Amino acid sequence: MKAIQYVRVGEAPELNEIEKPAPGPGQVLLEITAAGVCHSDDFVMNAPADQLGFPLPLTLGHEGAGRIAELGPGVDTVEVGMNVLVYGPWGCGVCWFCSQGVENYCSRAEQLGIFPPGLGAPGAIAEYMVVDSPRHLVPIGELDPIKTVPLTDAGLTPYHAIKLSLPKLVPGANAVVIGAGGLGHVGIQLLRHLTPARVIALDVTEDKLEFAESVGAHEVVLSDENAVANVRKITGSAGAQAVFDFVGYQPTIDTAMGVVGTAGDVTIVGLGDGKAAAKVGFWAQPYEVAVRSPYWGTRNELIELVDLAHRGVLDVAVETFDLDNGVEAYRRLAAGNLKGRAVIVP
Ligand code: NAD
Ligand code: ZN
Ligand code: ZN
Repeated sequence: MKAIQYVRVGEAPELNEIEKPAPGPGQVLLEITAAGVCHSDDFVMNAPADQLGFPLPLTLGHEGAGRIAELGPGVDTVEVGMNVLVYGPWGCGVCWFCSQGVENYCSRAEQLGIFPPGLGAPGAIAEYMVVDSPRHLVPIGELDPIKTVPLTDAGLTPYHAIKLSLPKLVPGANAVVIGAGGLGHVGIQLLRHLTPARVIALDVTEDKLEFAESVGAHEVVLSDENAVANVRKITGSAGAQAVFDFVGYQPTIDTAMGVVGTAGDVTIVGLGDGKAAAKVGFWAQPYEVAVRSPYWGTRNELIELVDLAHRGVLDVAVETFDLDNGVEAYRRLAAGNLKGRAVIVP
């Protein structure tokens, strides 16, 4: 079968012909219907060899959707033919976090050598993939897998981040979104749907700001050296009650810390260059600001998002590529000129 793989450290991914996998006991084989391309893949492919943490070649893709093609021995809770999304942050299923569906914070994954698909285990940018357990599948029924697959990460990650700040996003509150890309453009829609807050979006080009407005931002601000002053012109002295940084480089973290108001939340989602950080201390930010850096989301949150999708309240922007052109999707992602999510359709 065809698969897009990261083969050599620092080099572009490649389209390869590899053996079609077979599901082992307790596993499920999916025929992939759609797979999303995330900026985190780019981060991984820029990491030095000693920080990779898993062997190459790696089939990429941690956003996957598919049709169940085959059940491994002992699987009887799902059926061949079902359309499903793959919940990506696989955990052990047994620890305290996993028992609540919070597999993204599994306390035993590292010790047990469990990796998410596309980030250590073979991923979804291929004709088929093996899912380790039916627990990691969410049925989507008749939803279009191409428009739905980004919910597994570009939707789930902002949803998890926003849910943590919901109590602060009351009428009159300001929510700031930095970076209106794959995650950010879904984040804006979720903020509009779940909260009455005013949504202020920041990005680096007029094109991206227009895109942010088109998906629901009330106000847009260019992310430059004047960003803090320009956002504060909108929020007034109260500042923002929640800031979501979907970029995570030092300048955007500084902007986030500069616009947050008293008792507000700063949520750093973007991985940036792997080094940037917020400075926190009594004198560093307004009183009672909380700073957090969440990872992905929970199983139940993905089920909730699919429910939102069924109700038609999300419109994920996608640009599609076939497997033969999938490497081009990664080139476009790195160049920063995608609108929404790149989705590869085998
Ligand atoms: P993307 O490339 O689709 O979007 C990034 C957006 O940020 C683009 O619109 C780009 O123009 C904009 N941007 C770049 N520099 C900017 C700046 N200085 N100011 C404002 N906007 C700027 O990326 P994505 O797939 O949406 O991922 C976003 C980030 O989130 C990445 O760092 C990714 O690795 C990370 N991520 C984190 C998690 C997590 O669990 N914490 C999950 C998924 C992705
Ligand atoms: Zn991702
Ligand atoms: Zn666990």
